[in-house]
Amino acid sequence: MADALVEVENLKKLFPVRMGFFRTLVSRKQLFVHAVDGISFKVKKSEIFALAGESGSGKTTTGRLLLRLIQPTEGKIIFEGRDISFIPEREMKSLRRKLQVVFQDPYESLNPRMIVETIVAEPLRVQGVHNPKEVSEKVVRALENVELIPADEFLFRYPHELSGGQRQRVAVARALVLDPEFIVADEPVSMLDVSIRAEILNLMVNLQEKFSTTFLYITHDLALARHICNSIAVMYLGKIMEMGTVDEVILEPLHPYTRALVVAVPVPDPTMARSEVVIKGEIPSPVNPPSGCRFHTRCPSYIGDICRTKEPSLIHVGGTRFVACHLYGKEK
Ligand code: SF4
Repeated sequence: MADALVEVENLKKLFPVRMGFFRTLVSRKQLFVHAVDGISFKVKKSEIFALAGESGSGKTTTGRLLLRLIQPTEGKIIFEGRDISFIPEREMKSLRRKLQVVFQDPYESLNPRMIVETIVAEPLRVQGVHNPKEVSEKVVRALENVELIPADEFLFRYPHELSGGQRQRVAVARALVLDPEFIVADEPVSMLDVSIRAEILNLMVNLQEKFSTTFLYITHDLALARHICNSIAVMYLGKIMEMGTVDEVILEPLHPYTRALVVAVPVPDPTMARSEVVIKGEIPSPVNPPSGCRFHTRCPSYIGDICRTKEPSLIHVGGTRFVACHLYGKEK
């Protein structure tokens, strides 16, 4: 795909399980958490791509892998046509200018001992920009871009002197100050009051339109994904279950897991009929994921032994849509 900014091929991340002394006496076999287990997708330039799923699905680990905050176990991460999967940290340092992150919790991601000016200027200094005039101009411009205006009023405040929404704007300004190509936004509004979520989401959409920045938006909230994203991949236990444009996937979900997530989204119209698609129980342990289809232990559309024994591939089912389920394609 010529216009892909980020391409992910068969990406895996296994974390070794720390075992206590007695456990190692009983079993010498090393266990692993299968956090991300062979996923492939492409993020087009200037789009907002959603990674959605319950907690424990592997979406945050995927975001950290794409930024190379952690090293993959296997697979490829291709950024602007270059394979960055295993390049050394000194080469990553110059690339970090183009790859930025906005974390979930603006209360924890900002250093409480630093003023806003120092927080937003930090990535510039790490990248070797020390000219005070240049740093000051870039910091002011970043604050203005996130609508903290006039910037002078915010430069010398500490995080505790800001509201939750203002803190998250500072976090976005810090991500923007290097003019990045790609931003991973990890549940950036889930810790904020409902009343200010829309403001931050609209800000991200405006920034994407203004600077053509590409976003990976990590969320468990399909309604928010539909509101701001172009494409979506739905993850479950480290695998992608369904992928396509947000309108296709959310308005006409094919995979039983996506259907259950869509039905769980509240609608403001009490007269609107909703079909019941219930998923039972908790997400299984990623240390020992179910055989065959990973969703088979909770699937309301289970069709028999094939679901339990054979893992469905993520197959193309037309248009932009891919689905991993034996109900579709020729895998039955
Ligand atoms: Fe359900 Fe079987 Fe499809 Fe898995 S493969 S989602 S268990 S129907």
